Amino acid sequence: MVKKIRAFGLVSGGLDSILALLVLQEQGIKVTGLAFETPFFSADRAQKAMAEISAPLRVMDITDDHLAMLKEPRYGYGRNMNPCIDCHALMLKQAGIIMEEEGYDFLFTGEVLGQRPMSQTGSSLRLVSKLSGYDGYVLRPLSARLLPATIPEEEGKVDRERLLDIQGRNRKRQMAMAEKYMISSYSTPAGGCLLTDPGFSERLRDLFDAPRWWEVRDIELLKVGRHLRLSPDVKIVVGRNKRENEIIRELARPEDVLVNIKNIPGPLVLVPGGGDHESLKMASLVCASYSDAPVEEDVEVSLMTEERTSIIVTRSMERERLKSLMIGGRSRPKKNRHR
Ligand code: SF4
Repeated sequence: MVKKIRAFGLVSGGLDSILALLVLQEQGIKVTGLAFETPFFSADRAQKAMAEISAPLRVMDITDDHLAMLKEPRYGYGRNMNPCIDCHALMLKQAGIIMEEEGYDFLFTGEVLGQRPMSQTGSSLRLVSKLSGYDGYVLRPLSARLLPATIPEEEGKVDRERLLDIQGRNRKRQMAMAEKYMISSYSTPAGGCLLTDPGFSERLRDLFDAPRWWEVRDIELLKVGRHLRLSPDVKIVVGRNKRENEIIRELARPEDVLVNIKNIPGPLVLVPGGGDHESLKMASLVCASYSDAPVEEDVEVSLMTEERTSIIVTRSMERERLKSLMIGGRSRPKKNRHR
């Protein structure tokens, strides 16, 4: 009986990784996808895309390893807080461990030579394969004929002639392939990773730079509201609407302080880990400023901890001052809908 060749590949749910998988499948290779989850990206897109082509997918949470890498990536960050080279190497390493344990023949990815300026040059692709520890076993079917032959190609497990020679940013060939394989819905390359988002990256950088201890909950908080830094130790999160206020309440911990105004629509403000008297006064001021409270009128703001609620009387702050406190301050300090 002829042993079926089995490949295990990184699948993001973007078009390229799906095409890479289909190109191998066309050669009769049995393919399984692997998608990862961290606070910065989920496997949702991959699950949707793989369901569309009825291909098997494994999902793996790599939060701990990814965070450890993200704090100090050996090859640095891209334009934002995206450490793509280290991130890809980590993903391939995880995939490689499973490949060895479960007897897959090789790994594959949907990377395209020259598609991204930093992480997909010839030397970056070589570097990532090497860093993963599985150099020689990482096949990029879409650009394979432009790259050195991998071990499965040399062993005849993959027909190199039936692999592709796509390179660069132009996506015409991928679009034509999508039509051929009748793939109708797919997401953009690199879409879905928060680490490529400038505003999120600024907030993440601020979190890493702050002296206060942080955990995964604090990363989840970066996804909601406005973030304002009041001092090196204290920052606050301000809900922009009812839904965000609810999320902030759900993410609150006993050691935090929650700030809001009774009977007037406005934000819920979270002070993670609490703060000194001056910081809490400032948090009340911000809360009043983003509420529907009349400008230049005193309002009563509630400060709530697990044990007690206290009241501070305050009034709105000038817009320019608010702007200067903003982290990832691209959003304008305007009033929002809290009703
Ligand atoms: S875009 Fe995000 S998920 Fe993709 S390699 Fe870069 S850091 Fe990792």
